[in-house]
Amino acid sequence: MTNIYNYSFQELSDYFVAIGEKSFRAQQVFRWLYQKKVNSFSEMANIKKELLVKLEEDFALKKIKIIDQKKTPNAQKYLFSLSDEHKIEAVLLKQNYGYSLCVSTQVGCAMGCLFCASGPMQKKRNLMTYEMVQQILLIEEASGINITHVVLMGVGEPFDNYDNVMKFIDTINNPYGMQIGARHITISTCGLVPKINQFAQSDKQVNLAVSLNAPNNELRDFLMPINKKYPLEELMISLKNYYQKTKRRITFEYIMLADVNDHDKHAYELVKLVKDLNCYINLIPYNKTEHGQFQATNLEQMKQFYDIIKKSKINVTVRKELGADIWAACGQLRVQSEEE
Ligand code: SAH
Repeated sequence: MTNIYNYSFQELSDYFVAIGEKSFRAQQVFRWLYQKKVNSFSEMANIKKELLVKLEEDFALKKIKIIDQKKTPNAQKYLFSLSDEHKIEAVLLKQNYGYSLCVSTQVGCAMGCLFCASGPMQKKRNLMTYEMVQQILLIEEASGINITHVVLMGVGEPFDNYDNVMKFIDTINNPYGMQIGARHITISTCGLVPKINQFAQSDKQVNLAVSLNAPNNELRDFLMPINKKYPLEELMISLKNYYQKTKRRITFEYIMLADVNDHDKHAYELVKLVKDLNCYINLIPYNKTEHGQFQATNLEQMKQFYDIIKKSKINVTVRKELGADIWAACGQLRVQSEEE
């Protein structure tokens, strides 16, 4: 049976029309699911009895399950079990502008980035739309917190699960759904060029972040195997076109790895690489993973790297390390739980 959280607003409207109902039923049902957050069809008070019976026949409301959580004052990490027993995770972060949730998009990841805890897990499968939507719903229910921002930076490569991720964005952004503003949603990609091009044409107002992590092909090939398929020249052309089309500023994420990508010369190279783009660079303190081969850059070198970029008039920030003490880096809770 189809899970109702898998249905986009459009699909639900089409469904109601197909069974001879008015399409505004989709507005009503969306409000029950995403605003009043009911757990059964029978709670949908403005839907007539016969229609509730029909909905119960046609749809499941089944949810994924929270099986573990860890909390610090600024971060909460949740582990979920899916109906096929796979496990995924999401991290809730307290920011000065509200609460953001870092959502996973796949079980495992196929991209194999060397610094990332998800790499060794490999990709098991894509998440369905309902499995992404429910990460938000269940964490809001468990924490009592209203999630205002969503980042697709958990386990997985969102653009390797493009259609389900786009439907997820439509649902959480829908005015009858969770109403999370498009500008409060950020997709992070390792740089799948054809999907960036497709995304540029999609007219979604959501933010795009690109995990860059290296200023030249040699280093990026080493850290991120995807670079061999879509090297920096192609990535930059695609991002320039994206900017032309959307006029939306791109974020580059750059994890600082001691003596790997954090020398002054890398900063100068980075400036040269991005200077023609309207972008900003987010320097990220490396969170050491269980089997990680890297060390974090020390604060002094991070400051020096930052200053070189800043002096070149490129917007640059250093990401706060909110979740380091609860293993919040990508994939770490799941890896830890499987090892226990
Ligand atoms: N596949 C997508 C989304 C995964 S999240 C992508 O590549 O963008 C990727 C982000 O997770 C990185 O840009 C970084 O911000 C964060 N990240 C992953 N591993 C990390 C680590 N060991 N330490 C700190 N941040 C990490």
